[in-house]
Parts: sequence; structure tokens; C-alpha cells
Amino acid sequence: MIAVTVTGCGATAPTSTAPNSAASNSAASNSTTAEQTTTEVSAFERDRRAGVEDLLDRWATALRAADHDGIRDLIDPAASPQFVDEQLARADALTAVDFDSFSYAIVDSPEIPVPPPIAAGVSATDLWAPDIRLDYAIAGSDAAPAALPVAPVVTRHGDRWYLLSDSALDDYGRRTHPAPWDFGPVVVERVPAPGSDGEVSTIIGHADRQAEIDALAAQLTTAVPAVTDMWGTDWAQRAVVFVASTPEEFDGLVSGGDGSTDASLAAATITDPITPGTAPTGQRIVFGPRAADEFTDRSRATVLRHELTHVAARSATGEGAPLWLLEGFADYTAYRGRGFDFAEIAPTLRGVVREHGAPTVLPNDAAFGAGGTAAALAYESAWSVADYVAQRYSEASLLDLYRSLARGPLDPAVFDATLERLFGTTARGFVADWGARVAAEAAIGN
Ligand SMILES: [Zn+2]
Repeated sequence: MIAVTVTGCGATAPTSTAPNSAASNSAASNSTTAEQTTTEVSAFERDRRAGVEDLLDRWATALRAADHDGIRDLIDPAASPQFVDEQLARADALTAVDFDSFSYAIVDSPEIPVPPPIAAGVSATDLWAPDIRLDYAIAGSDAAPAALPVAPVVTRHGDRWYLLSDSALDDYGRRTHPAPWDFGPVVVERVPAPGSDGEVSTIIGHADRQAEIDALAAQLTTAVPAVTDMWGTDWAQRAVVFVASTPEEFDGLVSGGDGSTDASLAAATITDPITPGTAPTGQRIVFGPRAADEFTDRSRATVLRHELTHVAARSATGEGAPLWLLEGFADYTAYRGRGFDFAEIAPTLRGVVREHGAPTVLPNDAAFGAGGTAAALAYESAWSVADYVAQRYSEASLLDLYRSLARGPLDPAVFDATLERLFGTTARGFVADWGARVAAEAAIGN
């Protein structure tokens, strides 16, 4: 299974599993059977695979051409009318999007039998639940294709294969991850990347969020350079932004529709599983339905810059990296140079410190997903750590700290060594000095 990874912003990062290499062969699981049997299984599987690959090619082609007759011709007569309607609707919605590529591929993974309740009542000579990946690249925005898990059930009648469903396995833990065009007609806006030749940020949402889409498009022209000014030019300087109209769409785009998305989030950034040493793919900033109702221009700019910072820094960010560093760095970049003071950025932290004194520990990862005051305190504290480093030392030191510590879970020994190298201090000294600064800032004003 391919899973998306959510970068911070209050959401937990699910463990992801990259597809196995093309060299893996499911027939290998029959290694204890006789040679003759293995050969027969392989021939059967080769034949089945070729037939389904042909089906997948025709599916992608018919969808992109919005070829209704072609799509109906691919669907098993036993499929639900709803499945047919969904495929026709997504084909029509897809016509608004300009793709460099759009294709399906079989992912080599352990075979999962089609559950008997799904097989019951289907008269086919073969029934298969292959692990599929949709690879698609949005023109001008994706340097390499993004990958979405697809979990169809396919049937064989004679020499041909057909689609029976793409949601029947939901209850068995295999989900087809949706994209915005699976939730109705889409609006697409493009914003040229700074100094680029045809490279663009792409915003995709629906007509009921047109005003929000317009506002994001307008702000991208300044938000991208603002992030580059902090991070440097070592990132794509463009993004794909999705705007969800409903909580269901937000959960679908962020978590594949399994209900695990924190609905209180304004936005989240997702990415395909990271392959070390390669550029991240499938990075999408997803705005939730609350955004359009609750944003001011200033708060929208803050969230957009925060999420763009995650995108920019993704190649230097590993699974399990401390959230105080990831979120603090993103918020520091988001607020940077915009004239906010401590009391505006960190009102919760200010109140807590005034009442209870300086913080003595860095915010722990769980607090960022806790919601409410605990999450606000965690985010504000994380920002204050980054701000402390930038003011006390330099922004170059903050970047160095990020690049040194964001590659994975915090190792106390590495943390101490990094602090010694950068600042000539220990973790204990670092936290104490940060706490003293926060106490001083919190004391300012009434
Ligand atoms: Zn974040």
C-alpha cells in the first residue's frame, strides 16, 4: 500500500510503505510447491497481469478523453450504477486539469484474496483485487508524477478484464485515495513560479470556493518569494494547492478517506513516501473547508507561508523529526518580516508564562495534535524557539539547526553535539536560555 505522509500541522504522520521493487514476484510465495506448479502459476499470473494492464491503460485513456462510451465499455455489468456514474463524473471533471501524465500501474505486493461477500453473485471466470497506483503529474507543477493508491476489484469474462468497483475494499483496509476531481467539477488556477519558464503553482478546488481560490492565487505571488527569501532557492518555488469544500473531501485528500484527518486543521501538507536521495513527489498543500469561512488575509497568508515552508524544507525533513523544530521553523518563516510582535504571535504562551513562569522543556510531539489550548501553546512555543535562535544567533544558524536535526527522530547525543557546534551550549543550557528569553518577551506590555 502507498500511504501519504502528513507533515506536521497537528496531524500525525502515518507510517508509509513504498511499493516493492519491480523485481518482486508474487509467485515466489509458492516456493515450497513443485517447480511445475510454480511455472503454471507464473504463466497464469503473467496472463492475468497483461490483461489487467491493458484494462488500466484503456481506463486512463478513456478518463482523460472523457469518453463515456469507452468508460462504460470497461465496467462489469454487475457493477453498481453509482460506480458507473462516479467514473463518468470524474472523467468530466478531469477535463479542466492539464496533465503531463496520467496512468495506472500494478504495484507488486502480497496478494489479498477478494473477500467472499464481494465475490458472491459475480459471474466471472476470474476475480482479482490488484494493488494499483495512479501516477499523475500536473503540467507545469509536478516535476515527477504523484502517486495515489487505487484499490479496484477487477473481473475477467472470456479474454477481457473489467472494473467492478474501486471502493468495495474500503472495509478491508484497502482504499482508493481520491483527488479533487473525485468530488465534482473543479476550478483550476495557475500562478507562474518566480523567474520560471512555464513552471506554475496550481490551485485546484470547486466553484463554491472560488473566492478562496482567488485569494490563495493572489497570495502565492508573494508567499513563494517570502519562503525562498528564508530557505533559499533550493526548492521548486511552486506548489500544488488543493482547496477542499467539505470535511469529507478534506479527509479524502489528506488521509485517503479513512476518517483520520483532524477536522480542526486549517490546512495540511502531504507528500508521497520519501525515497532517500530523491526529490519529494506528490507534495500537496490541502486547505480544509474551514479556511474559506475563517481566514482573514493575514491569517491566510500565515497558513499559506507555513505550509509552503514545509514543502520547501521537505527534502531536508525525515520521518519522526521533532515537531517543535518543523512547526517552529514553518511558523517562524510564516511570520517573518510582517511586523507581528510576540504578543500577537504567541498570546497563549504569553499568558501561560505570565502565570506560571518560563517554559523548562521543549514542546513534545503529542501536544501539536492535542487541539485547543495545548496545541496553540505547542505551536507558539515552537515558534518562540525558532525566533529565539534567529534573534539570539542568526537566521543562518536557524537554517543550520533545521538541516542538522530535521532528518529524523531527535537523538539526544546528536542534539547536544549540534548545539555545542552551533552555539557552544548544551541542551540544558539551550532550553534555559530560550525560557529566559520567552519570560522576558512575555513580560513586555500590559
Ligand atoms: Zn505545519
